[in-house]
Order: sequence, then C-alpha cells, then structure tokens
Amino acid sequence: MESNQIHVDALVVGGGIAGMQASLDLADQGFQVALVERDPSIGGKMIGLSKVFPTLDCCSCITTPKMAAVAHHDNIKLLTYSEVQAVTRNGNGFLAQVLRKPRYVREEDCSGCRSCELVCPLDLPDNDNEFGRTAHRVIYVPFTTAVPQTALIDIDYCLYCGKCIKACPTNAIDFNQQPQNLEIEAAAVILATGFQVTPYDAKKEYGAGKLRNVIDGLMMERLLAPTGPYGRVLRPSDGKLPDSIGYVQCAGSRDETLGVPYCSRVCCMYAIKQAMLLSGALPLADITIYYMDIRTFGKGYEQFYQNAKAMGIEFVKGKVARITEDEEQNPIVRVELIDEFSRVVERKHDLVVLSVGMLPGYNPEAIYAVPTAEDGFVQIPDYNVSPTETVQEGIFATGTATGPMDIVDSIMTAGAAAAEASAYIRAHNGHRAKPEAAPEKRSMVYA
Ligand SMILES: Cc1cc2nc3c(=O)[nH]c(=O)nc-3n(C[C@H](O)[C@H](O)[C@H](O)COP(=O)(O)OP(=O)(O)OC[C@H]3O[C@@H](n4cnc5c(N)ncnc54)[C@H](O)[C@@H]3O)c2cc1C
Ligand code: SF4
Ligand code: SF4
Repeated sequence: MESNQIHVDALVVGGGIAGMQASLDLADQGFQVALVERDPSIGGKMIGLSKVFPTLDCCSCITTPKMAAVAHHDNIKLLTYSEVQAVTRNGNGFLAQVLRKPRYVREEDCSGCRSCELVCPLDLPDNDNEFGRTAHRVIYVPFTTAVPQTALIDIDYCLYCGKCIKACPTNAIDFNQQPQNLEIEAAAVILATGFQVTPYDAKKEYGAGKLRNVIDGLMMERLLAPTGPYGRVLRPSDGKLPDSIGYVQCAGSRDETLGVPYCSRVCCMYAIKQAMLLSGALPLADITIYYMDIRTFGKGYEQFYQNAKAMGIEFVKGKVARITEDEEQNPIVRVELIDEFSRVVERKHDLVVLSVGMLPGYNPEAIYAVPTAEDGFVQIPDYNVSPTETVQEGIFATGTATGPMDIVDSIMTAGAAAAEASAYIRAHNGHRAKPEAAPEKRSMVYA
C-alpha cells in the first residue's frame, strides 16, 4: 500500500451540504481544508432531492454549484470514496489515518466521458441512488451530477472482460489499484456526517416494507426529481399514475416503539412540499396528509402550509394504526380520526408515502472519542451557547450529525462550525496560511 501525508488547517468529515459549506467557509478565509467523503461523490442527501421547501427551488440547481466550488477551490483537498480510520492527538492538532478505497479507475486520468459504461455488458440495480429502480453498469459514474465525475468499478461483479479498458480513451482503468493510506495532519476537525432516514420497513403495522405501493419520503423525492428514474411519478407495483396518494406523518419519529422519541423536524415540511409538487405533476390526483401535529417552525413555513391547504390538499388529523393492501395492491390506511372522537375509518389509496424521520448517520465515538447523546446524534454539551462544540477540544460538529434539521439550519451551523474552528486554529496553532497571499489563494506554511 502506498502511504503519504498532507498537512491542513481543518479536516472536514462528510461532504453533504453541511460539510461542503463548512469547507467553503474555511477555505474562503484562506485556511487549507481536507474534505473526506465516504461515498464516490459529494452532495449528500441534498443532491438527490427534488425541490426545496419553502421556495421550491430546484435542488440540483442549488447543490451542484456548491459541489463544483468545493472541487475547484484551491484551498480544498477533496478526498471522495475515503474513510477516516483512526485519529490521534498531535500537539494541539490531530493526526488522521485515511483509507482511500480503490475505484479501479485512476481519478487523475478519468474524464467522466462514460465510454466505458456503453461497452460494459452487465447491469446492476442502482441501490445507492435510486432504490433499485434503475440500473448502472459494473463500471459507472455514480450519477449525472456527481462530483468528481469519475467512474468506479463494482469489482465484486466484474467479469474482467476488458471491454472497458479498450473503450477508455485516457487509459484510466487500473485493475491493480490498491487501497491507499493517507495521513492527514490537521489543526481542527469538523464532523458533518449527516443522517439516515428511519428504515421504511421498520414498522410491521405499516407493512414492514412488504407492501409494494408503500414507499418512503426519499423514494418520492427521486420520483419527483427531474433527474429521477422515470421522469414522472409512477407507482411501483404496476407503473400506474396514482390518482390518490396518502401521506403518513411521524412514520418513524415521535415513536417510542422504534426508539425514536423526538420530532425529526423536516417531515411535515417535506410532505407538504411533495404534496404541492404532486398537485402540479398529477393535477387530478387526490392528496391526503394524515398527521398528529403539523410543525411548520421556520421562516415562511406556516404560509407554505396554508398555501397547500388552499391548493386543495386534504389534511386529516389522525393516527394511522395500520396499513394493509387489497387484491390490487392498493394500500388501505386504517386511521383513528382525532377530531372525530377517535372514530376509526379505512381509506384506500393508489400510493402511500411514509414520512420517515431522521436517524444519526454515523457514530464517531470509536474514532474521534466524541460521544453521542441519548438520541444517538453527536453530543453537544452546551448546545444553547456553543451549538457546534463537541466534548473534544478542537473537534466541532455541524448539520444533521448533531440532530434533525433542514438545509437552512445545516448551512447556518456549518458557518458556525467554520467560525469556531477558525477561532480555535488561530488561538491554538496560529493561522498557518501565508499572510501576504490573497485570501482565496493562501497556502499553508509548516515549520
Ligand atoms: C425526504 C426528505 C426531503 C427533504 N427535503 C428538504 C427540503 O425540501 N428542504 C430542506 O431544507 N431540507 C429537506 N430535507 C432535509 C435535508 O435533506 C437535510 O437537512 C440535509 O441534507 C442535511 O445535510 P447534512 O450535510 O447534514 O447531511 P447529509 O446530506 O446526510 O450528508 C452527510 C454526508 O456525510 C457522509 N458521511 C457520513 N459518514 C461519513 C464518514 N464516517 N466518513 C466520511 N463521510 C461520511 C455521507 O456519505 C454524506 O455525504 C429533506 C430530508 C428528507 C429525508
Ligand atoms: S471488465 Fe468489468 S467493468 Fe470492464 S467492461 Fe468488463 S465487466 Fe464491465
Ligand atoms: S474510465 Fe475511461 S471511459 Fe470510463 S468515464 Fe473514465 S475516461 Fe471515460
């Protein structure tokens, strides 16, 4: 295995919107940043979303410029498909051991032309980005707007037929590529490891993932996205355009039986957003949102909710007890109507969406000695005063790594983490960027 070392001011772990923003905020001040992302592309969950509440701006249009800015910033060293394996204290800073997983394609040579995809003979379900609804070749660029636009090979399924090697115009494919070890010396660390959604098969009362026309909020995001698998909303069992769609709120939040007692904060808003987008995509469809409470806490959010009601989206205050299906695989929702003395009714839909909540994406305890709180998210001892400081001096956390939050709050905490990290670097290690250089071009000088 090759081994080499780089020196930076800050190591940022996780390349979702929070990690990208924290990296850019530091890099724009002249600090040197290494951004480590475990997936083959940066962008996190946000790059897969359709539009964003409450403005309904196109998600790709907001995210891709940030991804490109990260990739092209002189002060950011981007390490995708990489994982931090160990971190030790190094004076006032840290020494991180990073594993770069082999893509079997040399990043520096690959132009992302996708000629290899055209000749590769085998398709695999795209489980990472499209929930298995589309396929990619054994060699593939992760998705259209991926950054970097670099192919990788799923070596477990490769036939070693060599067709991609012949097709590659830049001779980028290297079956002998090995994992690489990299040592990163950093003055501060920012954890931006994000979230995962509550598994949609977690609740047996809701069909335990076995009802084909019951999907979750992230799957619906892909169906609604312009870059999605079909370019339209089709229900999974038979490809029919749904006429009646039901949303089940708090499906995996505020639920002691799943060990998730907290509110995930974004599900009400994303359900309302999706309902509005569905009203546009399927103007004749009936859309019903079954909720216990609607929580629209942010700027412009309550108005967004009122607009949805005015558009004819039906809001039913009720607790969904069970979802079953009829012989045509139409989901049947059994709901207790809270405003009607708990009367129980059953309503049939073509498609049901579970508004799944947020769970922590990663537990940093073993590697960073940063504990998690009772809810499993990174523990922030003094949240009201220093919302990004962990128990470890010099290690900060941002975005949904610290708890459920939306994009606006993820970006705000990223700015806060960058500011805290910047102050820490200056106070404990000195500002290592060359003072005479222009801010965005500064490079670090080490003794
Ligand atoms: C269905 C749905 C719809 C939504 N719609 C909206 C909306 O319209 N508007 C809005 O404001 N919010 C919305 N949200 C919330 C939004 O997705 C989040 O606020 C935002 O994506 C959080 O960004 P993040 O960077 O904290 O986390 P993530 O997007 O999860 O990014 C974390 C990154 O860290 C990487 N990572 C994790 N662990 C490691 C590790 N150990 N090493 C290296 N890398 C690691 C991950 O691969 C990922 O790239 C929605 C959420 C859902 C579920
Ligand atoms: S060698 Fe592997 S990746 Fe290349 S074309 Fe053949 S199956 Fe696809
Ligand atoms: S590996 Fe070669 S053929 Fe495939 S995308 Fe990269 S440059 Fe193009």
